[in-house]
Amino acid sequence: MFSFIEKKANLKIKGEIFKDIYQLGDDGIPQFKTYLAGEWVFSDEWSPIRSPIDLSIIAKIPKLDKNHIEKALDTIYRYGRWDIRNTPGFKRLNILEKAAELLERYAEDISNTLVLDAGKTFLSAKAEVQASIDRLKAAELDVKNIQGEYIPGDWSEETTETEAIIRREPVGIVLLITPFNYPLFDTINKLTYSILAGNAIIVKPASADPISVLLLARILELAGMPKRSFALFTLPGSMMNAIVSDRRISAISLTGSTDTGYKVLKSAGIKQFIMELGGGDPAIVLSDADIKWAAQRIARGIYSYSGQRCDAIKLIISEEQVYERIKGELVEELKKVKVGDPREKGVDLGPLIDPSSADEMMNALNEALSKGGKILAGGNRFNKTYVEPTLIEIPKDRIKEILLYNREIFAPIALITSAKSVEEAVDLANGRVYGLDAAIFGRDLVKIRYAIRHLEVGAIYINDYPRHGIGYYPFGGRKDSGIGREGIGYSIEYITSSKSIIYNYKGTGVWEYL
Ligand code: NAP
Repeated sequence: MFSFIEKKANLKIKGEIFKDIYQLGDDGIPQFKTYLAGEWVFSDEWSPIRSPIDLSIIAKIPKLDKNHIEKALDTIYRYGRWDIRNTPGFKRLNILEKAAELLERYAEDISNTLVLDAGKTFLSAKAEVQASIDRLKAAELDVKNIQGEYIPGDWSEETTETEAIIRREPVGIVLLITPFNYPLFDTINKLTYSILAGNAIIVKPASADPISVLLLARILELAGMPKRSFALFTLPGSMMNAIVSDRRISAISLTGSTDTGYKVLKSAGIKQFIMELGGGDPAIVLSDADIKWAAQRIARGIYSYSGQRCDAIKLIISEEQVYERIKGELVEELKKVKVGDPREKGVDLGPLIDPSSADEMMNALNEALSKGGKILAGGNRFNKTYVEPTLIEIPKDRIKEILLYNREIFAPIALITSAKSVEEAVDLANGRVYGLDAAIFGRDLVKIRYAIRHLEVGAIYINDYPRHGIGYYPFGGRKDSGIGREGIGYSIEYITSSKSIIYNYKGTGVWEYL
């Protein structure tokens, strides 16, 4: 089942356009520059990037200091936010279209990078690059949400003979903080709606796998993004407090864990936010579900990208009548999953992002076992970063004590339990602090309708596992899973501000003609 790693992870970038943004160190490892409002810069300090495949160092990126940050912020605030705002809408759209073209041309370099620094299988890496291209191309659909209103004043005596138009304006600078699990797509999604609406952007990529975002900065530059209107801050999250609270930044779009969400909200002060936070979704299996289909889809929901997805399935609640059947089918599905080097053909599940993620999964697994849990599938760890997809049965009267129920564990591990009725299943699903999405498998419309009304989540997938894709349908969390929505057209309101312009015609006689 598990194939050992035979080839050392080694990053090689072929594209000519990337030649100027890195140099090879004496050890042959590429040292990257980062992009700061018009210039590519090295720094005196480096952060090593390790591949989760074998933990070898594959690149070094600059660790910025306060002077770099201040200079870039000052340039973007004074000039960059106006440069992008002074670029007409059709040209902003052209920049995104050009970026999509370049991404397509250099897709091989970028997907190879995602395999090496994020540990994705080639299929997942290619799918992420394709989703990013598709998202850029869909920018045209966001445009219709950048619009205003006309309000006549004659519904109150006070405002008679006045009228208003309500404009939608960019807020200025949007800080995009992105997670390690979709480093490229999440950055592209956030920059698409931010730039389209006329904002300058600062990107803070995840420290684990920022290389695809560095390549993307080069692509944006060549696509014609105004040079002073964007920057890429390569520094650890722990050094972000001063930036997050800086008054020159007007909106923050964060995708990350709930803990990070709390920290950012605490230090940011008064700003606009999109917060796509932790999740891990429940799947409810009703007694009339197609059990084979449900098992196949739920298994995928558990293991794809090693369970490191906000919309991964972490809890299965089945009506008692079909509990044994869904359990059996799910175990069969999970046994088929091939764990190993993500560069090898046929491997479904690559490594976790770092050894501490595997530690966290094993600790949570042991905790569940100590509280009455039973391993139905998986449970093993190989090397430092590889784990099997794991299913744990837990009696429903103990489930609320379990760490895996109370916290998102970012790994391919899920709990399964039974419920007497759809009402009880919904209660168990709502008992978690998260509220991102849920899945329901079954046909009974009355039960499905009940669950739709009562589940406290941002999206419900009927007869499929949750996955946000390129955001064709909007997604986002309730409760500890976040604030706001992402999805084509849906994010514009969070990174723009409305401005009411009121015209007074009193005494001019214009009113008569309205
Ligand atoms: P994370 O540890 O919270 O990091 C996310 C980003 O926040 C990284 O760039 C990180 O930088 C930065 N960061 C950390 N502390 C910060 C601080 N105090 N101030 C500002 N920025 C800070 O999350 P992750 O492990 O990369 O990603 C997995 C999490 O993202 C999961 O919880 C998952 O559910 C969530 N997620 C949610 C959605 C959704 O749609 N709701 C989608 C994808 C992922 P460093 O890397 O340097 O620490």
